[in-house]
Formats: sequence, C-alpha cells, structure tokens
Amino acid sequence: MDEKKQNPPPACTCIQDPYASLPPEMRPKPVQKIGNLRKVTCPVCGLNYWTNRKTDLCAACENKGARLPDTSQGA
Ligand SMILES: [Zn+2]
Repeated sequence: MDEKKQNPPPACTCIQDPYASLPPEMRPKPVQKIGNLRKVTCPVCGLNYWTNRKTDLCAACENKGARLPDTSQGA
C-alpha cells in the first residue's frame, strides 16, 4: 500500500514576473534579439531559430532547395 501522492510542486517565486507590479506600458518588451541575431520562424517547416541572415528560411530547408514563394529579388 504505497500509494504515490502526486502533490503539485509549489510555485517557485523565482519565475514570477519581476514587472508584475508595473503597468503594462511600463514593462520592458521582450525583445527577441541577441546581438545581430533575430528570431525567425522558417516559413517552410515552421522551425523557430535564430539567424543573422536576411532570409527566414532555415538552413535545413535551404539545403533541401526550398525557396520562399515571394522573393522580390530579381533572378
Ligand atoms: Zn525550415
């Protein structure tokens, strides 16, 4: 009779929003940028990743020969 008690873990205060007491307009926006990297979503496979390139296409799809449907770059 060793029934497992599955108590929910106590909420950790260290993950609380440090800006919770601030009005929304005063909270810093979560900037998704690191240096010259930007967070993009690959339009082909939907992969979220960081890149410093202009295209959102991930390397894997690029290697497969995938292309963005509307590239305004002259061929
Ligand atoms: Zn991709």
